[in-house]
Amino acid sequence: MPRADYDLLVVGCGLFGCVVAHEAVKAGLRVLAIDRRNHIGGNCYTERMEGIDVHVYGPHIFHTSDESIRNYLGQFGNLKSCSVQVMANYQDELYHLPFNMSTFRDLWGCGTPAEAHAILEAQRVPCVSPRNLEDYALSLVGRDIYERLIKGYTEKRWGKPCSELPQSVMRRIPLRFTFDGSFFYDAYQAVPEDGYTAMFERMLEGVEVCLGVDYLQERERLSRIASCVVYSGAIDEYYDYCFGPLEYRSLHFDHNVLDEENHQGCAVVNYTDAAIPFMRCVEHKHFVGRKSDRTVVSYEFVQPWCPGIEPYYPMEDDENRARYDRYRDLAVKESNVFFGGRLGDYRYYDMHETVEAALATVSTILSLRRSRQG
Ligand code: FAD
Repeated sequence: MPRADYDLLVVGCGLFGCVVAHEAVKAGLRVLAIDRRNHIGGNCYTERMEGIDVHVYGPHIFHTSDESIRNYLGQFGNLKSCSVQVMANYQDELYHLPFNMSTFRDLWGCGTPAEAHAILEAQRVPCVSPRNLEDYALSLVGRDIYERLIKGYTEKRWGKPCSELPQSVMRRIPLRFTFDGSFFYDAYQAVPEDGYTAMFERMLEGVEVCLGVDYLQERERLSRIASCVVYSGAIDEYYDYCFGPLEYRSLHFDHNVLDEENHQGCAVVNYTDAAIPFMRCVEHKHFVGRKSDRTVVSYEFVQPWCPGIEPYYPMEDDENRARYDRYRDLAVKESNVFFGGRLGDYRYYDMHETVEAALATVSTILSLRRSRQG
């Protein structure tokens, strides 16, 4: 049999694909990485505007408590620690997120954790077995927080009333009885000092990269040139939606350069009122405290997804999980194609989870190669 040109074809140059490609080259494999977009980095991609690294597909803060994952990404550039401040805007009133003593003070004027506990207790709507997200949120945080800070935002994000959403779409509702305003709990919270794109460029050193190439459009030719494929595109699209499309939510972004130094005073403001059409406004310079006379802000809008537009958030409810399982049953029967990443696994992965999953995939591929060769 003729030898293939590459040992590995990586489909998708997002975080998952770049980690796989980097590790495979390090292990001596000949690797081709492709992406149908015209840039690397997937949704983590950043672009320099006015000297500021703009998170083109939404704000990305790397956070983990796992030192080995932090060190892994740290080898590709300086990760600048940042404790991102997120505010909520509800009808022009600003509140701190996640819900903490500053939020409780602004909502109810209470000054001590004991007062906040007492008010929350009085507001909660007890529910032994919540049937949906609304029941769950009301039982946990009560009516004020639910109606002002959760309901409108969540309904915009998922395009359904909270009373029709499963509790599982919201991973958790953190309540902090301190004035700690950092958004994540993890020990390490950072963004690459010179932007994600530079980090991905370093990751892809030694990898042959072809951009603007859609694997599914040229599947036969591309499959012939490599002996193994790692596919980080959408699993339902790979199988031509044979069990029907999986549901996603899509996004679009409106990026603006403003002739002012500081527009909103923090990196992210969530707009929690359903009447405001966008979800959040991101002011990128605040991630690393970049100095510049001008600023760049991005408005993030959620839109319904249909095949042909970019999928962002998988709708991880029972119906979609069951449909995904049918695709997964096909995927595990493939002998030389490995699926992964947020689209391949149909799962919302944070970046640290994506890195872990990619390292596990590449380790499986390398040990299979060793057993086949040996
Ligand atoms: P992607 O980044 O989507 O990369 C997949 C790539 O595959 C894409 O570039 C796509 O073009 C390409 N592709 C798809 N199909 C094909 C095909 N047929 N042919 C060729 N190429 C193809 N995580 C955090 O830890 N912190 C955050 O703050 C955070 N914020 C986020 C904000 C938003 C708005 C979103 C959507 C996600 C956020 N995440 C965050 C999650 C983070 O984006 C993911 O963990 C990570 O990007 C997943 O990487 P990936 O490679 O699996 O997917």
